Amino acid sequence: MHELAITQNIVEICEANAAGRKVRTVHVEIGELSGVVPEAVDFCFEACSRETSLHGARLRIDRVPARARCRTCAAESAIRSYHDPCSACGAYQLDILSGEELRVKQLEVE
Ligand SMILES: [Zn+2]
Repeated sequence: MHELAITQNIVEICEANAAGRKVRTVHVEIGELSGVVPEAVDFCFEACSRETSLHGARLRIDRVPARARCRTCAAESAIRSYHDPCSACGAYQLDILSGEELRVKQLEVE
């Protein structure tokens, strides 16, 4: 399962940053285009954090909406996938502005 490895990675990053302190809240950003299912990460988190300094920590997941800028007309629009056309002119050449995020944004330690 894809999300299990990702969640393990998130826990490892947090443990390294917490440096032995107890972690209260983990704040993660997941972009809509990242292909990562937040619910699955949430599900894996408890198992992955067991026996680490993250045990009992709260996981906060923020979804980052996908946005792109059109190379033809320069309009910015919200997209649902990499294959979406520009909402203004219908062109398919878009530069992704956001939505590919997968990162630990913040860590609250005691
Ligand atoms: Zn356009």
